[in-house]
Amino acid sequence: MTSLSARTPRFALVAHDARKDEIVEWVGLQLVPLSGMHVFSTGTTGSLIKTAFSELNVTCLKSGPLGGDQQIGAMICQAELDALIFFVDPLSPMPHDVDVKALTRLATVYDLPMACSRSTADLIVDGLLGEKTDERF
Ligand code: PGA
Repeated sequence: MTSLSARTPRFALVAHDARKDEIVEWVGLQLVPLSGMHVFSTGTTGSLIKTAFSELNVTCLKSGPLGGDQQIGAMICQAELDALIFFVDPLSPMPHDVDVKALTRLATVYDLPMACSRSTADLIVDGLLGEKTDERF
């Protein structure tokens, strides 16, 4: 497999409505490393990130409830992502809960680094930038 250091890392960023402000704030704190990555995002999350940080390379997919979560799941199956940052709202029922479960399930099946909290998201960014020995990349 191609070394991560030999190509642009690919991150998926997704946030439920109650955590969209939080992911935009987190992106701002990680702007330097994320500037060197290709970011894929569900529609609404991606538009907010693009509006706040036009310098980032963000590809917006469908909105999560309209299939965006499943598009990201398909990318995971095809080894097209290096990490998933998924700020899930743990306190609200979701009409597309099955898609949320499917996405986290696929990240687990394929052992994709996945973060649902800021602290873990920071660890993933630091880990991927520091990785040169992880043979998965
Ligand atoms: P959104 O999707 O970024 O389009 O709001 C997120 C989700 O609910 O999966």
